[in-house]
Amino acid sequence: MAPIDDPVKRKIARYHLLEKSVCRRCGALNPIKATKCRRCHSKDLRPKKRELTK
Ligand SMILES: [Zn+2]
Repeated sequence: MAPIDDPVKRKIARYHLLEKSVCRRCGALNPIKATKCRRCHSKDLRPKKRELTK
């Protein structure tokens, strides 16, 4: 398998890595669109967003 050399694909992959929510209760990663934690069903989610390195 070839490594991902396509910069567009890398950008998409990184974008998806950043688009996550972290549960404040159990620390599980959830989709950014999730309103409830998939593990403990808590609604106390915070977005895990970081600046992209420029
Ligand atoms: Zn949770």
